[in-house]
Amino acid sequence: MANTDPKGDIDYVLSDALVFISDEEDQGIQRGVKRSAEDAALVQEDQVKPTPAKRLEIDGEPSKVELDESGPPNQVDKPAEPSQTTVTPKTTEPSPAGHKEKTYTLVDQESEIKQALANLRECSEANSLLAVDCEAEKLGRDGKLSLVAVATERHTYLFDIKTLGAKVFDEGLRHLLQDPNREKLMFDCRSDSDCLWHLYAVKLTNVLDLQLMQIIHQESDKSHPYYGRVMPRDFQRRIKGFKKCLEHYVDDQNFARIKNSGLPLMGKDGVNWMKRPLIKQLLEYAAVDVQGFFPLYCKLKSAVDTPSAKKRLQVGSQRYLDLYQSKSVRIYDKYELNAFLPWRVLPDSVNETFYRQEVTCTGCKRRFPRSDFTKTQLRLGSQKCPVCKKIDKGC
Ligand SMILES: [Zn+2]
Repeated sequence: MANTDPKGDIDYVLSDALVFISDEEDQGIQRGVKRSAEDAALVQEDQVKPTPAKRLEIDGEPSKVELDESGPPNQVDKPAEPSQTTVTPKTTEPSPAGHKEKTYTLVDQESEIKQALANLRECSEANSLLAVDCEAEKLGRDGKLSLVAVATERHTYLFDIKTLGAKVFDEGLRHLLQDPNREKLMFDCRSDSDCLWHLYAVKLTNVLDLQLMQIIHQESDKSHPYYGRVMPRDFQRRIKGFKKCLEHYVDDQNFARIKNSGLPLMGKDGVNWMKRPLIKQLLEYAAVDVQGFFPLYCKLKSAVDTPSAKKRLQVGSQRYLDLYQSKSVRIYDKYELNAFLPWRVLPDSVNETFYRQEVTCTGCKRRFPRSDFTKTQLRLGSQKCPVCKKIDKGC
């Protein structure tokens, strides 16, 4: 059910072969989504305004993960490993600024927080672009946050939330992540946003989601079979995982090596992210993950080099941030966790940045215009959005 790595390395609840079998063949859209045997009971809930509660309970359902109810995981187990480490993922092409060697710093002492944040603010002044990623045991409001990785092109800071707790956010990381003047590169920000808001009252702002950017890039790729075609309404686009995107666009063997060595060490649901000291391979994995956002962005950014395309990405990214975070409960069923681009997340054009939220889809529980559903569906009270219909077909 829960994925260890919602960035796509474990491809959600589905197998690689099923999910990413084809992003270039029409018939690919007819296959791939495996029905979940554990469809959760449909809970009548709509999107509601989020509250900065530490954690929301699921009414009448056991927690997916046993949480320490005493509060955020801020207890110190042991002093962590030496804080300063160097990892050198080589890139096949120079990064935008031409830096080939990158380093990361583990911030696991209170005395280090302010300096790390000051360095991040200073380093990002030039272009204001940061990369942000979270590592957790079961990333989301029902999980436990281990690390927040924040990177500039030059350097990555791994903030140890397990060890330092909410203090990291209170001392300035919250302000940085919420700063509307700094763009943040993320990859599939849905679970990160859910986790940061519900556990630490951090509302991510001004995010450019690379998973959505890849979709836009694909649309503009003249060599792609879908280019220029008007797709039927029942065509639903698949999203790619981060690992797949790196392989396809960046093709960096060293990135792949470090990610592949770290992946099996996470444990079930990422339980090993909460152990201290964190092993070197996992620290490197976390650093490589977030550092990989920059070369990927470099490859994809041509797709959003017009104001209208950029606006479309910004609107889509904001909806992505809100998607899980704004739910009153998380269900983790097939309608929530699947490999399709959620319905109406990415506006078709910059002119469609608003839609009426009139009727609730009985699958994903999101609200859409009445015109998105058939009259028969509405009469029977079984209306589903096109993505949820696709999932029901077992495609
Ligand atoms: Zn739906």
